[in-house]
This record gives sequence, structure tokens and C-alpha cells, in this order.
Amino acid sequence: MSDHTVLVINAGSSTVKYQLISPEDGAAIASGIVERIGEETGIVKHKYAGQEHTENLPIEDHGVGLRKVLDLFDAHGPNLATANVVAVGHRVVQGGSVFPAPTVITDEVVEQIRGLIPLAPLHNPGHVRGIEVARELLPDVPHVAVFDTSFFQTLPASAYTYALPKDVAQEFSIRRYGFHGTSHQYVSRLAAHTIGKDVADTNQIVLHLGSGASVSAIKQGKAVETSMGLTPLEGLVMGTRTGDIDPAIVFHLYREAGMSIDEIDTMLNKQSGLKGLAGQNDFRELLRLIGEGSADAQLAFDVFLHRIVKYVGSYMAVLGGLPDTITFTAGVGENTAIVREKTVNALSGFGIAIDPELNSVRSDEPRIVSTPDSTVKILVVPTNEELEISRQTMSLISE
Ligand code: AMP
Repeated sequence: MSDHTVLVINAGSSTVKYQLISPEDGAAIASGIVERIGEETGIVKHKYAGQEHTENLPIEDHGVGLRKVLDLFDAHGPNLATANVVAVGHRVVQGGSVFPAPTVITDEVVEQIRGLIPLAPLHNPGHVRGIEVARELLPDVPHVAVFDTSFFQTLPASAYTYALPKDVAQEFSIRRYGFHGTSHQYVSRLAAHTIGKDVADTNQIVLHLGSGASVSAIKQGKAVETSMGLTPLEGLVMGTRTGDIDPAIVFHLYREAGMSIDEIDTMLNKQSGLKGLAGQNDFRELLRLIGEGSADAQLAFDVFLHRIVKYVGSYMAVLGGLPDTITFTAGVGENTAIVREKTVNALSGFGIAIDPELNSVRSDEPRIVSTPDSTVKILVVPTNEELEISRQTMSLISE
């Protein structure tokens, strides 16, 4: 086992995911998930040394869930007492303008994360519970919060400001925050490395295409634009989220369809996107439906792709020219050659070209899939948010 390990915890509203990671060599030593917290029957899964242990039992709250996780480490390994856990890294979705960087958690930091709940009502309450319980159960090591929003705190005001009345925006902290920042940061650094350049010397566009999807423009290592906004609802078409729509659609639904604000909120976040258009939010299922000739699924794919191409084109303009790299990551970006091929083919007028053979190779390694004479290098870089959290945690406590 390596010298130091970091326990990375991602506590959601009814789930807790965890990984024990060695930040130096990037190895995920053990991992698992507690699901359905607060429901009649919960599920815990723990993976270590090629074995997966699953149990079904009621898990009343995050405290019970995390205690169960520690029991699983005791029962199935590795032994946390000898794993040299030097810190716990917590994923936090919303850091607002308060946290431009990872932060060692104190009582005051917990209160600040709690104070950001109005900006992330679906995420920050679970994070706060997870942090509180983890600090109680593992009191001898530092706990660090790593925020999805921090990487985008470098956006210029022209990019993060919505054209709303200034005092209203200020009073209610309304601005573009951006999300998936840990992934965009990790992937952009690795993309630069893969083409043999320093991240500070590269201009990049990163497409994080998973069930949530976002795109960023990164100039010399600093994020200058991103598609998600005040919340993760804005931007690209996603599994169940609309991405960009005319905000007047909300008023229209309220007035004409008689929907409540909560119903509209649920519809835009959970029943729209690919699911709304084709009845399927899982991309593999969408591709299967297209194969069966579904016109709805084909339209969903086309809308998804059109939005991506539109954003990439506008981000090239934001960067003032062609970037060095366009990188695909996350579930769809890493695994779906057809999405990469169609996106790049739509950009052929810019001299950007994909190599179909390289693009069809499946691999867990970062790789270049463009032709040698393409004006922009196209990459596939598997994301690893947990590893990035463990590394940011480690570098903060080593300072
Ligand atoms: P993520 O949120 O990054 O886990 O990505 C989830 C999305 O990636 C889902 O829409 C999955 O259907 C999609 N996905 C995962 N693996 C594959 C695959 N092998 N082929 C196509 N889509 C995939």
C-alpha cells in the first residue's frame, strides 16, 4: 500500500459515494456507495481487492450510512488504521464566490457551506450532513472541501454577469458559477500533458458529456467561459435537463399550462433533455432506439449535437481563434465515438479533422484522435474527479 491515502467523500441528498485513493500513483484502493438513505431499505456496496460486497438494510441518515462504511472497511478491508489516511476530501457542488480554492474545513467553513444552500438546494444540504458526520467519525485527520465551482472563479465579469438589474443580482448572489470544475481542471491539465505542452501555454475547449453536461473555454490554464450558470441547468442538453431555453418558457408554462413553480422546476431538471425528447436519458439506450429507427431518439441526438457544435463555435470566438485542443470526457464523451465524430465533422470548415480509426479505439488512457494535419488536436481524456479531489486535498494539507 502506498505511503499516504485520502478518503474522498461525495455526499448527496440520499447517497454517499466514497473512494480511498493514493494521490501519488492515482490508485483507487477501495470504493463504494451508500444509496437510498432515509428510505425503507438502503443499499451499501463496498469494493476492495477485486471483491464487491453488497448489503441491503435500512439507513436512516447520513450518520448511519457513514458508520456502515467504516464497518465495511473493518470487515472487508483495507484496514483504515493502517492505510495511512492523511485527510478526507469532500466534494462540494456549490462554493459560490466564497471559495475560489479548496479549503480546510472548520466549523466556520461548515456554516459558510450551509449558507450557500439557497444557491444549491439539491446538493449542499447533503454535503453539510456528510461533512458533519465524517468530521465526527474521523476527527484525527484534516477534512478539506473541494468545490465544483472554484475552477470557474477566474471567469471575467463579462462572462459571469447576467444582464439583470444590478442590485437584484447582487442581493441574491445571481451570477454564472459554473459546475464540473474539478473535472474540467483535471482533464485540461492532462490534455495539455498529452500533447506535450504546459497547461499555462494552451488554449482549450473541454466537453464534459455525462448525464450532466458542460463545456468550458480555458485560456492559458484559466477558465474564461463555461456553459453552466447559477445552477447546473444552463447550457448543453443533458440526460434529464433542458440546458438553455428561453426563460419566457417558464412564464408561459406558469400562465398557460397552470403549472406551479416547483412543477416547472422538476420538469426542467428531471423530465427534459434527452429523456423529455426521447423518453430515455441513458445515452446507450438512446443509441439503441436510434438503431431501431426511432425518429424521437434521432431528433434528441440531433438537438444534443447541435447545441454542442454551437457552443464549441462560440467558445472558439471567445478564445479569439482556434484552440490547441478540444477534449471529450465523461460517460458519453469518453465512450461514444459517434458523438465525437459528428461534432468534429461539423467543424470541418475550420480544418479540424478526426481520424476514424483512432476515434474507434476504446481505451482508459488519454489519447489524441484527430488526424496529423488537423488544425486542432482532438482528445479523449477519461475524467477522474475523485483523484483530482484527493490531489487537491493532499496539496492543501502539505502546504
Ligand atoms: P456520467 O455522468 O459521466 O457517468 O455519464 C453517464 C452517461 O454516459 C449515460 O448517458 C450513459 O449512457 C453514458 N455512457 C456510459 N458508458 C457508455 C458507453 N459505453 N457507451 C455509450 N454511452 C455510455
